[in-house]
Order: sequence, then structure tokens, then C-alpha cells
Amino acid sequence: METKLKSCPFCGQKDDGSTDSGLFVIQDKNGARFVYCEVCEAKGPRIKCDDVMEAIEKAKAAWNMRAGDGHMYRARCALFDQITRRKK
Ligand SMILES: [Zn+2]
Repeated sequence: METKLKSCPFCGQKDDGSTDSGLFVIQDKNGARFVYCEVCEAKGPRIKCDDVMEAIEKAKAAWNMRAGDGHMYRARCALFDQITRRKK
């Protein structure tokens, strides 16, 4: 299932599900995935995973977590699982 992105915490840009919503998951030069806001150039936490689809989903989840509490971090898959488990 596709994870819907929360609005950008900096400029309020919404993910309306279209390709020109302004919020995208992109890849950095180290292969990590993160959400990028095209409107204000905000970047979400970077998530590095062997599984590309998993990395994308986790990058979205990390963005949504940050949108709520302003928490910023970099994570690998296993570390991300630890962080999300701790928060529940
Ligand atoms: Zn923004």
C-alpha cells in the first residue's frame, strides 16, 4: 500500500497524489532515499536499504514522523525499525 505523505512541515505543501504535488522521494548519491519538497527544498531523513521499495516506504514513514515532531535523523533499515519501535 502506498504511504501518503504528510504536508511539508516548513511550507505546508500537500501531497495530493499527483506527480506534480511538489513532494517526492528521491535518491542521493550514496543510494539513500529521502523525501524532498520541491517548493521550499526541505529534505526528509535519509533511509538506506538493500530493498529499494522498502527504502522508499521507510523514507516516507520517516518524513511523516518528522512532520509530526521535528525529529531529524539518518538511518539504515534496522536502525529505522529500532527508532519506530521505540516511539510506539
Ligand atoms: Zn516545503
